[in-house]
Amino acid sequence: MIDNDYLIKAVDRSGQVRISIAHTTAVVDEARTRHVTSATASAALGRVLTAALLMGSDMKGERDVLTIRVDGNGICGPIIATVDSRGTGRALISNPQTDLPSKTPGKLAVGELVGKNGFLEVIKDLGMKQPFVGKVPLVSGEIAEDVASYFLLSEQIPSLVSLGVLVDTDLSIKAAGGLIVQALPGADDSILEIIENNINALGPISEAVVRSSSLETIAGQVMMGLSYNLADRIPLSFKCNCNEGRLAAIMAGLSVEELQEIEQNVGKIEVCCNFCNERYQFELHDLLQIKKHKALEEF
Ligand SMILES: [Zn+2]
Repeated sequence: MIDNDYLIKAVDRSGQVRISIAHTTAVVDEARTRHVTSATASAALGRVLTAALLMGSDMKGERDVLTIRVDGNGICGPIIATVDSRGTGRALISNPQTDLPSKTPGKLAVGELVGKNGFLEVIKDLGMKQPFVGKVPLVSGEIAEDVASYFLLSEQIPSLVSLGVLVDTDLSIKAAGGLIVQALPGADDSILEIIENNINALGPISEAVVRSSSLETIAGQVMMGLSYNLADRIPLSFKCNCNEGRLAAIMAGLSVEELQEIEQNVGKIEVCCNFCNERYQFELHDLLQIKKHKALEEF
């Protein structure tokens, strides 16, 4: 059992293959606690968030942001995960309580819940004028295959992606993790074959993180038979970037009449952040003050 959430990368010494492995049990458990997700929704949300954390770790800039949006027209609605390059991320699933019975014992019906009539979209904001956007049709809605298809079609990188979330009977997250293997240009088929066999022997990544004492051990199993170097080690955490000031500014964008109406109908002005479910309460008086300042600044 690995006791903290982090990710590592490794590259084989001939520079033909790179791997990234993440342990995300606590991060996914925080997402499921905040959003009060069903078992299947936890698995879907956890897989998307884990994939985003793995992909986000390839960004270089301090302020770079990567977002994955999965919408397969299934009953859980769109899933969105946003991460930075420093290992922090947040995620939402539109209908967190939806669930479907599993058809295969021991396997949650993630593909059915997510649906496959739609797209997986990756948006990378790397501080350029325009963000990079890649969008591919979903293969199965199981997420891992869909991410692999994104890498191949949108970035022309043949990849093997494995994402896993084990949900306990009390709905807590027993284990979560992910693995991405990528062939670098000119990679030899024989090396890829060795790694593929190693991954088959490893089994599901969620079980490998339960069994192993560290991700370094798992990297050793995936790279068995090859010499390799371990690269970055990045701690992972669930962290939202919402705050009172930002949400107050958004609310102050409403008209005076709209704000008065909310206060009269609901009795209070409350906003809930979609990404972390944190609630913020505002006084009408304070929002009107912010509006006044804003108007003066613009004047
Ligand atoms: Zn938030």
